[in-house]
Amino acid sequence: MPVAVRFPDLEHWKAQVKCQMGCPVATDAGRYVQLIADRRYEDAYLVARAPNPFASVCGRVCAAPCEDACRRGSIDEPITIRALKRFVTERYGVESIHPETQDRLRHELVTEGNRYPGHLPVHPLSSDASPARRKVAVIGSGPAGLSAANDLALLGYAVTVFESADEPGGMMRFGIPEYRLPRTLLAAEIDKVRGLGVKLELRTPLTAGFGLSELRALGFEAFFLSVGVSKGRDLAVPGVDRDGVVKAIDYLLNVNRGYRMSLGRRVSRTERITDELTPLTDSPCSQAFTCASVRPPLQTARRRRGLSDSTSSSRALSAPNPAAASAKDRRSASCSSPPLVRTLSTSFMAPNRRA
Ligand SMILES: Cc1cc2nc3c(=O)[nH]c(=O)nc-3n(C[C@H](O)[C@H](O)[C@H](O)COP(=O)(O)OP(=O)(O)OC[C@H]3O[C@@H](n4cnc5c(N)ncnc54)[C@H](O)[C@@H]3O)c2cc1C
Ligand code: SF4
Repeated sequence: MPVAVRFPDLEHWKAQVKCQMGCPVATDAGRYVQLIADRRYEDAYLVARAPNPFASVCGRVCAAPCEDACRRGSIDEPITIRALKRFVTERYGVESIHPETQDRLRHELVTEGNRYPGHLPVHPLSSDASPARRKVAVIGSGPAGLSAANDLALLGYAVTVFESADEPGGMMRFGIPEYRLPRTLLAAEIDKVRGLGVKLELRTPLTAGFGLSELRALGFEAFFLSVGVSKGRDLAVPGVDRDGVVKAIDYLLNVNRGYRMSLGRRVSRTERITDELTPLTDSPCSQAFTCASVRPPLQTARRRRGLSDSTSSSRALSAPNPAAASAKDRRSASCSSPPLVRTLSTSFMAPNRRA
């Protein structure tokens, strides 16, 4: 009887590097963790930065799917890959005293770290805005749009980012609270993208009157649409349309734009656990974000070890009380809704309005 034999190919072996496969930009996390262990911090930073123009942002707030995939996690606990990224970005990233370190990637070939075909940069770049360069329009300046702009600029395209808001960054600026992601760090990382010659047109939304045909008429030959999803999800519960009930996304978008939201004296949070809505706790409004991007299994493991954390976003967002924590842990087992879409329902809260 014939036996089918399949020889492992390169893709097979790549798939065994689970942290790299788990990372949305295929960062060679194993390599930079090893380089840190060897105290080669600058090289480690360059490995983390090479595929990722927002390495410093990710060192602070990445949801770290690499850690979920980490092979070590099946033995005891995953390596704290994201916190180690922050460790090296604080030494060599835009927020460090050596913000120019990443420029090495544009002038020399850094050999550390596994590269994937999409990884950039690997070639020296001239940032001269030559008229001969083909024009690409990126719509939206969130992490998706700015990363695309970064890579397109490195590939030699003349990139313009059109952004409807008056500041760039998308949800990095208007969704993630400043205490978790300093705006100076974000601005510095965006400035590096601009430094490649990327133009940023703020307060210029794509609209019915200013659409792709108008952009084509301006000479743009390709378009990258990255307008995000800035709308919170509605909950199918009675009373959700009443005054004083506001979605977390609406709350954050308002607060991060500097509008005052009057929350009254008590705030009640509600989140979807399974089919039911489970009130988590009454809490002061300053703790209203605790659910965002917490990764419960890891958090539980850390709690078991009695760790507190000032460097990890997961732990920085730790639940303020055991009741909330256990509800989140239950969610990890059963919730099918995306992790960052939550509803904040408040009692005694003023309607959503500008101060
Ligand atoms: C509260 C919150 C907390 C989060 N925390 C984390 C975290 O800790 N870790 C993590 O990894 N991820 C986190 N995320 C998720 C992360 O922010 C998003 O996945 C990411 O921002 C999506 O990027 P994007 O570029 O696709 O869209 P966005 O960031 O939404 O950017 C879209 C951009 O397009 C612009 N735009 C929209 N319409 C137009 C138009 N017509 N013309 C021009 N411009 C337009 C918008 O103004 C915006 O700047 C969080 C998200 C939220 C909401
Ligand atoms: S922390 Fe985020 S960006 Fe860094 S390796 Fe992990 S998944 Fe990739």
